[in-house]
Amino acid sequence: MQIIPLPAFRDNYIWLLRAGSHAVVVDPGDAAPVLRYLADEGLSLAAILITHHHPDHVGGVMALLEHAAVPVYGPALETIPDLTHPVGEGDEVSVPALGLRLRVLDIPGHTAGHVGYYAAPALFCGDTLFAAGCGRLFEGTPAQMFASLQKLAALPGETQVYCTHEYTLSNLAFAAAVEPGNPAIAERIARCEAIRAGQQPTVPFPLAGELLTNPFLRAHEPAVVRQAEARAAGALASPVEVFAVLREWKNSF
Ligand SMILES: [Zn+2]
Repeated sequence: MQIIPLPAFRDNYIWLLRAGSHAVVVDPGDAAPVLRYLADEGLSLAAILITHHHPDHVGGVMALLEHAAVPVYGPALETIPDLTHPVGEGDEVSVPALGLRLRVLDIPGHTAGHVGYYAAPALFCGDTLFAAGCGRLFEGTPAQMFASLQKLAALPGETQVYCTHEYTLSNLAFAAAVEPGNPAIAERIARCEAIRAGQQPTVPFPLAGELLTNPFLRAHEPAVVRQAEARAAGALASPVEVFAVLREWKNSF
């Protein structure tokens, strides 16, 4: 199985999984790059996976269905036109044409019904966990997003994270502001700057590195707590409160 990034819009990645002559796409916000790739490679589409309802994740579904009537999996708790298979926590998505089975994880916070898809070692987590960052809280609470990130952080360290935006360098700039003394962040900035200078994606990335560099997964670290408390000008009683301060801070960074 190969997993290919199809760049879309300014900084989205549509992930295309391929095996043999079949393909699956995750979050096709735009049909054009998908249809072009399928035609160029002689692949037929077998299924569409959706993580949440935002237009840059679902905008291409209708045009893809005109091309091929395939199952569309997506969060049962969100209103998504053309969804054929509503899914939620614990469900399994099976795509026999690719020999692919994915486990569905409920990871609300960015949106109320956001789901992820996990087929070890690959995790497709939409706009929940980014490299050195996390999605904005458009519909969920800090406690929900924090719990979702903790759920993802508990997956094996070798998990490869396929998020849907190239936000890595700006996220790392924020991570460095939160933890100026963290050498793993400085090292990751240097590595990712080199990757971007070569026009390559910084995604996917291993989960293990996130635990060392992503401030939103480090709300328990004393250095991160101190910075959040300084920002809030007061004591913070829990990692969720630290997380909430970090998320607000990032919004205005
Ligand atoms: Zn989104």
